Amino acid sequence: MGSIVLFGPPGAGKGTQAQRIMEHTGLPQVSTGDMLRAAVKEGSPIGLEAKSYMDRGALVPDDVILGLIEDRITHADAVNGVMFDGFPRTIPQAEALQNLTEITHVLAIDVPDERIVERICGRSTCGTCGTVYHDTFNPVPPSGCSCGSYVEKRRKDDNADTVLTRLSAYHDQTSPLADWYDAIGLFHPVNGDRDIAEITEDLLELLN
Ligand code: AMP
Repeated sequence: MGSIVLFGPPGAGKGTQAQRIMEHTGLPQVSTGDMLRAAVKEGSPIGLEAKSYMDRGALVPDDVILGLIEDRITHADAVNGVMFDGFPRTIPQAEALQNLTEITHVLAIDVPDERIVERICGRSTCGTCGTVYHDTFNPVPPSGCSCGSYVEKRRKDDNADTVLTRLSAYHDQTSPLADWYDAIGLFHPVNGDRDIAEITEDLLELLN
C-alpha cells in the first residue's frame, strides 16, 4: 500500500479522521502541524523558525516542511506508507512529495468556510493520548477520555483572528492542490459537514 493524503481546510476534521482511519489501515498519521508544535515546544531551531508563522496562521516555508517530511518517512513505521495530515499545503510541497513516496489517494474533507470558525474555536485535544474533541460536536465524555487520564489541551492558534488568516492561506496556497491532484486522478472529495462516523465510513469506502 502507498501513502494517503488527508486534504481539507483547517478544522475540517483531518486529525479526527486520521485517528479513525489509522485504526483500520495501520498507516501512521504524519501531521506536519503536530511535528511543528513539538519542535516549538522543544525550542529546536526548526521550532524557533516556525513559531512566528504558526502564531499568525501563515504557512511555514516549504524547505522547513520538506526537511521534516524527508526525515519522517525514513522511520521504520513508514515503510508501508503513511497518512499525511495537513501536508502537502502548497504545489511545491506536492511536487516534492511525488519524488519521496507513492500517493494512492487524496481524501478531501469538504467543509464550508462558515463552519470553520465554530469548529476551530471549540476544539481541544487530550494531552495524554491526542484524541481530538469539540465542546459542542464531539464533547469529552462525562467519564473523561477513554485513555483514563484526560488532560485538556487547546491550541494557541485556535482563535477567531488566526483562523481567518489560516483560512485565507488555505484558499490562496492550498486549495489549488485540489485541481492538481484531480488532474492526476487521485482526488476524492467527501462532504465533511456531517456526523463524524458517516465521514469515516465514506473515507474507508474510498480506500477499499
Ligand atoms: P495544522 O495543525 O495542520 O493546523 O498546522 C498548524 C500550523 O502549522 C499552520 O497554520 C502552519 O503555520 C503550520 N503548518 C503545518 N503544516 C504545514 C505545511 N504542510 N506547510 C506549511 N505550514 C504548515
